[in-house]
Amino acid sequence: MNDKTVLGIDIGGTKLAAAIVSTDGEILTQNRIPTPTGDADEIFAALRELIDTVRGDASPAAVGIGSAGPLDQQLGLVSPVNIAGWRNFPLVDRVRALVDDVPVTLGVDGHCFALGEFWTGAGRGERNLLGIVVSTGVGAGIVNDGRPLLGQSGNAAHLGHMVVDLDGEPCACGSFGCVETYASGPRMVARAQRRGWRPGESVDAAVLSADAAAGNELALAAFDDGAQALAAGIVATAVTVDLTTVVIGGGVAKAGPILFDPVQRWVKRFAQLPYVTDLSVRPAQLENAGLLGAARLALNTLHP
Ligand SMILES: [Zn+2]
Repeated sequence: MNDKTVLGIDIGGTKLAAAIVSTDGEILTQNRIPTPTGDADEIFAALRELIDTVRGDASPAAVGIGSAGPLDQQLGLVSPVNIAGWRNFPLVDRVRALVDDVPVTLGVDGHCFALGEFWTGAGRGERNLLGIVVSTGVGAGIVNDGRPLLGQSGNAAHLGHMVVDLDGEPCACGSFGCVETYASGPRMVARAQRRGWRPGESVDAAVLSADAAAGNELALAAFDDGAQALAAGIVATAVTVDLTTVVIGGGVAKAGPILFDPVQRWVKRFAQLPYVTDLSVRPAQLENAGLLGAARLALNTLHP
């Protein structure tokens, strides 16, 4: 049977997305809605409607869910930082009740991003890959022979919270000097402003990137600092797990060469051991890598 399909679901702070995906990674139907506010049941009711719309007459053989963290993979609970109504919400059980008890798998959104790019995006044809999402935070995932590297609690590869500065600033996670304190969009903007960058009315990473492209030294310096921290996290990960393909996506990565040029330069500087000197750092190719990665999670349960 080659007409088998799976259902991918992507849970984020700004949108909920779902898609019916073929076993070779083709999206057959998809839809998205803004993440509703409200209590746990109101949010789930909106997700349920989204799933019904996307599913139509299809009978997916498995379901994969990628969600913003934190989450408990073993118990199937999610508590996404930006979805206040869901705290320890039993998402896996609730979705399973909608889909006739087919396998339902839950994964970290960063893992799903990496898996999606590995499957049909910038990492196609590779065996191993580190995927990084740089936006208001820094998420990541590692794919090892087609499977996400989970770790003991399912949260492996949290590169954004790797400490790269022993005297660094406090981080939202409670630690200090994390990659994220340099490389997230808001942190780059804040650093540039502290040094005297004075943008116009709107203040965000896109404006910072435009100013950097126009040659503004303060904006360029903030991107260079962010790139250096990212490169340190990338090379530390590559040295640890022995991989050579890195894909970077997310809002801040839309800066293109403004981010990628300094990342490449710092990666070259840091990566000296022979097995990591060929590190390839590429931009993501997919708009919906997280959704495709969630579908791939589902597919993996059918081919253990
Ligand atoms: Zn941190």
